[in-house]
Amino acid sequence: MEKAAKFDVIVIGGGPGGYPAAIRAAQRGKTVALIEKGDLGGVCLNWGCIPTKALIADAKIWKTINHGEDIGAKVGKPDFDYGKMCARKDEAIKKLRGGLEGLITSNGITLFRGKGQFLSPKEIKVIGDDNAILTGDKIIIATGSRSKEIGTFPCDEKQVVTSTGMLRVTKLPKSLVVIGGGYIGCEFAGLYKTLGLDVVIVEALPTILPMESPTLSAELTSAFMKQGIPLHTSAVVEGIDKGKNGVTVRLKDGKTFNAEMALVAVGRTCNTEEIGLEKAGIAVCAKGCIPTNEHMETVVPGIYAVGDVTGKIQLAHVATHQGLVAADNACGIVKEMHYDAVPAVVFTTPEIASVGLSPEKAAEKNIPAATVRFPFLALGRAVSTHATEGFVSITYHKGTGQLLGAQVVGKCASTLIAELGLAIANELTVACVEDTIHAHPTLPEAWMEAALLGDGMPVHLPPKTKGRKA
Ligand code: NAD
Repeated sequence: MEKAAKFDVIVIGGGPGGYPAAIRAAQRGKTVALIEKGDLGGVCLNWGCIPTKALIADAKIWKTINHGEDIGAKVGKPDFDYGKMCARKDEAIKKLRGGLEGLITSNGITLFRGKGQFLSPKEIKVIGDDNAILTGDKIIIATGSRSKEIGTFPCDEKQVVTSTGMLRVTKLPKSLVVIGGGYIGCEFAGLYKTLGLDVVIVEALPTILPMESPTLSAELTSAFMKQGIPLHTSAVVEGIDKGKNGVTVRLKDGKTFNAEMALVAVGRTCNTEEIGLEKAGIAVCAKGCIPTNEHMETVVPGIYAVGDVTGKIQLAHVATHQGLVAADNACGIVKEMHYDAVPAVVFTTPEIASVGLSPEKAAEKNIPAATVRFPFLALGRAVSTHATEGFVSITYHKGTGQLLGAQVVGKCASTLIAELGLAIANELTVACVEDTIHAHPTLPEAWMEAALLGDGMPVHLPPKTKGRKA
């Protein structure tokens, strides 16, 4: 029997875009319904960011154990149980999901378990464990995305898997061909290489991490080469043959690669089908995404869209921010989305992080910019903690000193990038970083040293020319 209910705000999708939107609207005193057909937390918590980071953390411990002798530790012949790593990952997800369910309840949000479909611009039908007709004054679409599949080599989730299928595997194969050298391809390749698999990356474009600046993709390319991950770029996969003992990945140029499994990581498809968008009066763009304005509102007033489904920047933290902006607007508080200081992190070894404009993008926009780079090798904390690989770099406006962008390659890059994210978002200058006292000995001192380089006066790098500066 279908229930009928009325809410101020209805959110479709409980991932990192949808659930923060629901919480924000509830905090603003609205009655809120959240519709979720799967697990709360979406891909990020259940099949993306969190499980991969759990496994990557364990792989790092495994790597450290294998390098025990470097510090005089006698570790014998180490071995590991991948099943146990998976169990710890699942435990982490369960704990976080439990916390999230608690947050939804404690904020007074009504959770509907099922698929949400528009019947009209203000009505949503829920089909699933819960069956209901909901009427909403404002509606936020946060239905996310799924792994893109290519018709010529569909995933069977056994031998040819998406990232979701790969995360379901509890017994590791011996070898893996990773198709796609983007975020997912690189993170998974690094993870499984560390765990001892033979891994090859096949990427259609001329470089891996094509969405990042050439400097960063070159850094990861050379790191992967050192780690023994062969990269085949400008290599388009045309088909995959499956056999008893594994797969043969066929390239357009006739080359083939054999492995036990193939992971397909060629991008994401927006989840816009089966939600009755046409009944809401919303058309998707050519790429299949829902167009929105700076308030995250669609062409239909009162209907918002956030996260991957908007096809803007498909990152969980962008989805969350969009969710909060959409919810505020839905509650009558005008907010705009800005994308000038969006941090991006690739969780490989070394970690790669960036925010704002790269030097290349600044040049493309004809901005008179300067870039300074400080290597970790010259930093006390880095030398004392096995963190000498990599650098930080800052790009700023030559005239005003305003910070435009920053990059980090190395240990803790994912954490380090936050300082410059805050600085860029708040339109600070390179002098602000230079004049900020940074604790010693810490890795963030690298930012201060890089900023000092702007004046040619770093403390921990030798002068380029001998003698005193006037
Ligand atoms: P992606 O778009 O980052 O990379 C896909 C790659 O596959 C591209 O480089 C593309 O050129 C290549 N490709 C496409 N077809 C191919 C073919 N036939 N043969 C060989 N290569 C081919 O997509 P992804 O890596 O699947 O990641 C999906 C999304 O998830 C991204 O938008 C990303 O932002 C997000 N993500 C983020 C993180 C993070 O923030 N750390 C981690 C994982 C995923």
